[in-house]
Amino acid sequence: MITPARRLPTTADGSPECPVCAGMDTVAFVRREQVPVHQNLLYDSPAAARAASRGTLALHACRDCDFVFNAAFDDSLMSYGERYENAQEHSAVFERHVDTLARLLVESHGLRNAHVVEVGCGQGSFLRRLVEYPGAGNTGTGFDPSYAGPLETHDGRLRFRREFYGADATGVHADAVVSRHVIEHVRQPVAMLRSVRAAMQGGLHAPVFFETPCVEWILRERATWDLFYEHCSLFSPRSIACAFAHAGFAVQSVGHVFGGQYLWLEASAAGADPAALAVPARTAGEEPLAVRALAFGRDETARSAAIVARLCALRADGPVALWGAGAKGCTLAALVDPDATLVDSLVDINPGKQGHFVAGTGHPILAPAQAAARGVRSAILMNPNYLDECRAMLQRDRVDIQLLELD
Ligand SMILES: [Zn+2]
Repeated sequence: MITPARRLPTTADGSPECPVCAGMDTVAFVRREQVPVHQNLLYDSPAAARAASRGTLALHACRDCDFVFNAAFDDSLMSYGERYENAQEHSAVFERHVDTLARLLVESHGLRNAHVVEVGCGQGSFLRRLVEYPGAGNTGTGFDPSYAGPLETHDGRLRFRREFYGADATGVHADAVVSRHVIEHVRQPVAMLRSVRAAMQGGLHAPVFFETPCVEWILRERATWDLFYEHCSLFSPRSIACAFAHAGFAVQSVGHVFGGQYLWLEASAAGADPAALAVPARTAGEEPLAVRALAFGRDETARSAAIVARLCALRADGPVALWGAGAKGCTLAALVDPDATLVDSLVDINPGKQGHFVAGTGHPILAPAQAAARGVRSAILMNPNYLDECRAMLQRDRVDIQLLELD
């Protein structure tokens, strides 16, 4: 239930105004009631997991700037506390991705002898890489209300503040600002970017780097499981450029990383061109994102039914699991098996998740060998980027589970 104060402004016909470009032409394309608001909170029992807080996912697409947002998002339901576990460093593939980004910043962007500010640093693993990068001489300050470690490490070269990075943080000089996988959790992204820019007063020439999921990839790959409550703001290259321009940044580039799943934006708080405030033009022949979103929404029920049919067929040979108890696995479990009667369990290689239960459905989260010991014969992999790595791990550990791709 959203309170009137939190409701987004609406247009004359009742559709919500776009939070990025303030455009009035937005269309609803996916609606799911009673979805768990957190996908990565840990629960100690199936009952506690099923009692997780729930909200409505009411996704709209803007016909002007291609932004996608949950018009029913209520931030009062969100609590990213210590029970929030989304570390992905247990995967070598993900480690390589993060190493590549650190190398890009140091080697290609010359980030050396610099003080790096990370906005929403989590437990600081990326910032630590930049500070530890051999020969780079970097220092850093990480901002995150959920940071749980020591406030100072590396002889003071790395510091943390359990707060948001905003106008109150002006005492912290930044030679570069980095933010990864944060802005998609923010209901009013332009306001967040303005607050980052306000914090940078005095250092406006510092380069700014943002990473966030690409909604075009989700629509193209028909990745229903990548639409969930925590991500209330989903960007395309056009809409992220638009959001930064509206917040007073000059956007240098927007590209794709991690097999196309994520956007990587480079911007500067100085030298913004007022002309850039116009929504970037579409490439010739490019279909508006809203058209693709509506087609995606029309297929949603059929897509889930097809996955249920496949799971039923697999189960004829023995219990079946989903591989990956992150947001994707949690979301798919809720879509295809809300009562936990079809899927045996969710497998995850993160020991911090094992032994806990999936938000909403209450499926157990198990190590691969534990799932095999329960008789699981096959598992569907939630993220195709990890297929080779996970198959190699099963072979190495002699775990007899058939690992399959979703499509
Ligand atoms: Zn818009």
